[in-house]
Amino acid sequence: MEGRIIGVSGSVVTASGLKSPKMNDIVLVGDDKLIGEIVKLDGDKAIIQVYEETAGLRLGDGVAESGEPLSVELGPGLLGAIFDGIQRPLDLIFRRTGTFIGRGIKVPALDREKRWHFKPKAKVGDRLDSAGEIGEVKETSLIKHRILVPPGLKGEVKKIAEEGDYTIEDAIAVLEDGGRRETIKMLSKWPVRIPRPIAGKLEPDMPLVTGQRVIDTFFPVAKGGTAAVPGGFGTGKTVILHEIAKWADADIIVYCGTGERGNEMTEILTTFPELKDPRSGKPLMDRTIMIANTSNMPVAAREASVYTSVAIAEYYRDMGYDVALMADSTSRWAEALREISGRLEEMPGEEGYPAYLGRKISEFYERAGKVKLLNGGTGSVTILGAVSPSGGDISEPVSQNTLRATRVFWALDSSLADSRHFPAINWLNSYSLYTEQLEDWYAGNAGKDWAAIRNKLMDTLQREAEINEIVQLVGYDSLPESDKLVLDTAKIIRESYLQQNAFDEIDTFSSTAKQYKMLKAIYNLNKAEERLIEKGTKMESIDTKEIKQGIMALRYTKDEDMGGILNKINKGIAELADRAA
Ligand code: ADP
Repeated sequence: MEGRIIGVSGSVVTASGLKSPKMNDIVLVGDDKLIGEIVKLDGDKAIIQVYEETAGLRLGDGVAESGEPLSVELGPGLLGAIFDGIQRPLDLIFRRTGTFIGRGIKVPALDREKRWHFKPKAKVGDRLDSAGEIGEVKETSLIKHRILVPPGLKGEVKKIAEEGDYTIEDAIAVLEDGGRRETIKMLSKWPVRIPRPIAGKLEPDMPLVTGQRVIDTFFPVAKGGTAAVPGGFGTGKTVILHEIAKWADADIIVYCGTGERGNEMTEILTTFPELKDPRSGKPLMDRTIMIANTSNMPVAAREASVYTSVAIAEYYRDMGYDVALMADSTSRWAEALREISGRLEEMPGEEGYPAYLGRKISEFYERAGKVKLLNGGTGSVTILGAVSPSGGDISEPVSQNTLRATRVFWALDSSLADSRHFPAINWLNSYSLYTEQLEDWYAGNAGKDWAAIRNKLMDTLQREAEINEIVQLVGYDSLPESDKLVLDTAKIIRESYLQQNAFDEIDTFSSTAKQYKMLKAIYNLNKAEERLIEKGTKMESIDTKEIKQGIMALRYTKDEDMGGILNKINKGIAELADRAA
């Protein structure tokens, strides 16, 4: 005997008579078998969050138990796909039913018919633990999909498929453990709200190199780290996320978009698939998975989408990949939490958000990390979360809880955007708590004096802000020469280094080596001028025009062509040094 609906309030349905209802289990509601999740148990009543439009449900309609928690399907075919928050394949559904998702549409997340070319890696008689490698499939032009023993399973390989083409439901291996046999397919499932098991967390010690100078040099995020990006409208948030998706040295990108306006999401859904992976020239979608929700999808699907995304990210991490997850925007997710909590008549906390908002946000970011995998390898999930506080005021609860849970803050600033300073990351308000732990990496991969130079130039930018206040009071002319130099150097840093044109073929990406060379040029110029000033030279009689032009030109010069310009810069700086000697 199945359950019956005894109440409907928006997307929340109350049912009684379920046989063994468990928290977070999926149920199928009504004749259309709408997907819902049990979010609360109250005596013999189950409160169900329905992930689809509930109009038309009636009291007395049936509710069937699935006995399973909300889960994602995992296997080849994820890359390149566009899913909604509960992993329904949007591209397929669009094709089948037009623009809107019909109610109760059941399309499996992953294609059941497609054949993948499987190459076995294990052989009969091998003993495999969880995460042991069974074989691999070339999933896209860019990514090898490793088929691993799912968490919790292990055993001796009794059978393994020969190299050949198989669907994700074909048996590709049989494991035996203590008399129990398990058939392994390429398709597996995982409950989204539970982190996939790992052997342990590792200290993040490598940057996610983004090629964006202001980020990599001044506010780096580690592979396995977390960052928050507040994105007021028009501040360049979309451009930054695109730049990171294109250029960051992550193997896999998971893009979770929960847009407020349907058209905002549509824009991303149409622009993203057109982006090319700049290094290979292949479509970026060959290493990307998109989870998309628009405002015309029920809030509950929005709430689920971040978990669906992070579960998929962890799955590729478990293959040893570095995955970058971008959640845009987590404010929409938090609003979904608030709405659901309201429907459940929970006690509201700050600004109507549930009291557990902070815990939910930090649990989400805790799923980031550089980790030791069950098979001894390493992998990482980096989470970049955009927040979009209304009016750009980050004192509200979602921003505040996000800042507490993340270790990098890129403060996008609308006044910088208005003055066309892009990326509009405010260098005075932004921070990275990874800077120190990444110093060794930069010392080894850029130059030993990376940290010293970086800190000196950051200090120059901060001094600039202080001196500018003094200028307001006393005027530029009465500044000491040393302060005039600070202003001059800060201007070079801002215009030739912090600013970066995403639409210029070369400036769009700066390698770590190029960043170091540019930093060093600015630093050496500053040092030479400092010495001249110490000798009593006035700023106005130091001619640095050509050197500055050279530094600016580096922005638009390919790494391999920088030699000539660097020689000129160094020659100019050497002449200044001679004058000071
Ligand atoms: P948001 O998503 O925050 O509303 P966008 O990312 O669409 O804003 O950026 C708005 C505009 O700002 C872009 O169309 C572009 O003209 C400009 N812009 C943003 N970032 C850059 C950049 N790095 N280089 C050049 N122009 C930029």
